[in-house]
Amino acid sequence: MATEEVDVRRFTNRESSTRIGRIPTPSGFPGLGDINSYLIFPEEGTEDLILIDTGVRSDEAWEALNQGLKALDCRIEDISRILLTHGHTDHYGQASRIHEASGCELWAHENLWLTQERMRPPPERLEMELYCYSLWGVEQEVVERALARRAGFAATYDPMEPTHLLKDGERIDIPGFNLETVHTPGHCPDEVVYWQPETQVFFSGDHLLPNITPVCLLQIPRGKNEPRPPSLVEYQDSLAKVAPYPAKVTYPSHGEPILDHRDLIESYKLSTDRRLLKISRILEKNHWMTPMEIGKELFPKAWRDQLVPVMSEILGHCDILEASGHAELKEESGRIYYRYISTPPPRE
Ligand SMILES: [Zn+2]
Ligand SMILES: [Zn+2]
Repeated sequence: MATEEVDVRRFTNRESSTRIGRIPTPSGFPGLGDINSYLIFPEEGTEDLILIDTGVRSDEAWEALNQGLKALDCRIEDISRILLTHGHTDHYGQASRIHEASGCELWAHENLWLTQERMRPPPERLEMELYCYSLWGVEQEVVERALARRAGFAATYDPMEPTHLLKDGERIDIPGFNLETVHTPGHCPDEVVYWQPETQVFFSGDHLLPNITPVCLLQIPRGKNEPRPPSLVEYQDSLAKVAPYPAKVTYPSHGEPILDHRDLIESYKLSTDRRLLKISRILEKNHWMTPMEIGKELFPKAWRDQLVPVMSEILGHCDILEASGHAELKEESGRIYYRYISTPPPRE
């Protein structure tokens, strides 16, 4: 991701509005780069300064946010409301510190608790997660590395209690700049994009990102006999939901503004189709395979240290292969296995 190009900006009329500013802050995580917070400046004569997403809890991110606000002639104390696109630490981690300085409110989607729970699971949820890893054929030492990686994320996570929980379709009243909440689960269950109808602008969080296809993070079922929510299928439904909007500019949480979100969605579909085909070929060459075995073949390097993104990709695509009859699934001796049936044709 070309995050080094991102800088503090006040967007001009040509890019649809003078109400929008951008402040990138460092996430501190290798490969993740900067996260963009967006400011919505108050309408003249009002004082409602909105911050979309916060950055992680770190001194570097705090410094970058304060410097960015200064460059845009604002102060941290002026922030009246934080709107979250979703509850990952790069979007939510610094909320508590901002609240302490400003007394601001925090608005987020009503599924926020699900993402918070994944970050710091209570014992019974952790137990369910470990049960799933075993079911998917993951070795203990790989699980331990994944838990250590999550602890690293959790160390930059200092959220505040939400003031208001948003529902799909809910309008957010901001003088001269109302937003519509569009719930877009897939990357995570509480992901929303915000739509500004008059200026035809999206704030897309991690739902639409330039240069990379967002990871649809695996979800842990609520119980051993409960279904696992299919994140990639949910994501595709969410793409179909945002595609019809006549967006002139889409402001993503990582990278530069997107000028044609429909083109981007088409490119995502192509990359999904390519991956479905690759997994199908791997299954065709082998007999029954656990998700971890498929992951090792498809991501021969990344699986050791990036278990969650790797398993998210494998399970997400296997869900589609299975639902479309191109693969079958069996459970045997506490493991699940997939087997090839047929090759998926390219979609229309
Ligand atoms: Zn995210
Ligand atoms: Zn992010």
